[in-house]
Amino acid sequence: MPDLRQTAPASGATEGDHGAPPPPQRQRVWPLLLLAALSVALVALCVRLLWLRAGPAPRRIGVIAGHWQSDPGATCPDGLREIDITLPIARAVVERLKASGYEAEVLPEYSSRLRGYRGLVLLSLHADSCVALTGFKVAGRGFGPSSAASAHLAECLIRRYGAATGLPFHVSTITPAMTSYHAFHEAAPGTPVAIVELGFLGADRRLLTAGQERVVQGIVEGLLEFLASAGRPARTP
Ligand SMILES: [Zn+2]
Repeated sequence: MPDLRQTAPASGATEGDHGAPPPPQRQRVWPLLLLAALSVALVALCVRLLWLRAGPAPRRIGVIAGHWQSDPGATCPDGLREIDITLPIARAVVERLKASGYEAEVLPEYSSRLRGYRGLVLLSLHADSCVALTGFKVAGRGFGPSSAASAHLAECLIRRYGAATGLPFHVSTITPAMTSYHAFHEAAPGTPVAIVELGFLGADRRLLTAGQERVVQGIVEGLLEFLASAGRPARTP
């Protein structure tokens, strides 16, 4: 059992009366300085991470192949499916964009990567129902900070796609499914987004199946025109 008399200070004793002297003030300051330096480094790291997150958009273009990895989309009585049109066209568009020096990728309809997608453009390709109508449709994201850029993107696509394919712009059948397209609500607010209905599986079947080169050309030329002029104010279509 320890001898308490050796550890208990005598009544009335003060510090410095006996035992080791208190540590110099300098030794107690160093841990505080180290802590402060670590805090500053941590704040700097957080600022850097935030800057990277909100920094310039990557030179990436996402092309959604309508209905890919989800469902077949519109289907004709003879079995022609929308997905049979959108997937090869999306792949060909991406290859052409890569050949033009862009980082491009094909994305499934409901890719988890759409949430917060950041890039130069996010474009979705679809084809319309198997009815006796002809024409194409384009809708850009009409809300948020990229709405003007999305309208400009739509304008470029309408002009170039119409010229390459000869199809009329079928504005009267633009539906809420287009103007409220799910990717409009998922992509990062600054990314220009648009959806294209390439034509009707009914009356435009020949173009969509046997004339895909013109379809791809129209989409790529519209995208390249937009990318070349991005940053200019949108004009009224
Ligand atoms: Zn579709």
